[in-house]
Amino acid sequence: RGMVVLQVRVAQISPDHILVFAEDRTEARRVEMIRRDFVVNVSHELKTPVGALALLAETVQDAADDPVAVRRFSERMQREAKRLSALVHEIIELSRLQVAGALQEVAVVEVRGVVEEAVDRSRTAAQAKGITIAAGGALDTTVYGDHGLLVTALRNLLDNAVSYSGSGTRVGVGVSVEDDGLVQIAVVDQGIGIAPEARERVFERFYRVDPARSRDTGGTGLGLSIVKHVAADHGGDVTMWSEPGRGSTFTLRIPSAQNARPDQDLGPVVE
Ligand code: ADP
Repeated sequence: RGMVVLQVRVAQISPDHILVFAEDRTEARRVEMIRRDFVVNVSHELKTPVGALALLAETVQDAADDPVAVRRFSERMQREAKRLSALVHEIIELSRLQVAGALQEVAVVEVRGVVEEAVDRSRTAAQAKGITIAAGGALDTTVYGDHGLLVTALRNLLDNAVSYSGSGTRVGVGVSVEDDGLVQIAVVDQGIGIAPEARERVFERFYRVDPARSRDTGGTGLGLSIVKHVAADHGGDVTMWSEPGRGSTFTLRIPSAQNARPDQDLGPVVE
């Protein structure tokens, strides 16, 4: 941190002269550290569900004579397997976003389509908790980007809004076009909120305010990291506002299709 990494090479070009080449490797080193860190974290995160599955498999074998226990343990195995599969899926998604050319299908995207698809996919989980999701605002606007990734980002925000809200509450999706040419998609919930000291950290990989609760809701701690990358890859960003006990608002800002050039370089971003 704050250190400059130089790679130095020295060549003797005559008996009295040496030539020194110095290359600034600070950024390369930083990226390498982030990758290494990621691999360590991933291994650690995978250990939990894999360990649980192994244990459950053993237990179910011991309980072979008791059909009720077999059913209970196999249900738990299914839950763990589902969690593992979600985790692997998100790890792949995030790795893909961290390498070049993450935005593969770049086109003019209708915001209404993105919102409808994301809301549709979050609806089952919302209904199970008696939470209603309503969308409104400038839905007929367009952005320039990757439809699938935008759905993924919005869906992560909606899933969180549902996961961290009580039953009977409401979740809103509001779209507006700002003066600076950015399209703003805000996801508003009336949930538990996020304490001030955690706000800076929620976008970090694998960070959860309450690991036990996140695990119960099937969270991986990667959702907001993915949202952040999708936003940055589109030349936009994601911000949040929250008040503990009252709710949170996550706002995705993506350049409007009217402002983006088709040849615009939407290069990869490493956090
Ligand atoms: P997770 O898979 O655990 O939900 P995320 O990266 O999506 O991971 O979010 C990180 C953490 O931020 C969550 O574990 C949760 O503590 C907090 N968080 C995210 N969204 C909300 C929200 N809408 N309301 C309250 N807390 C939230």
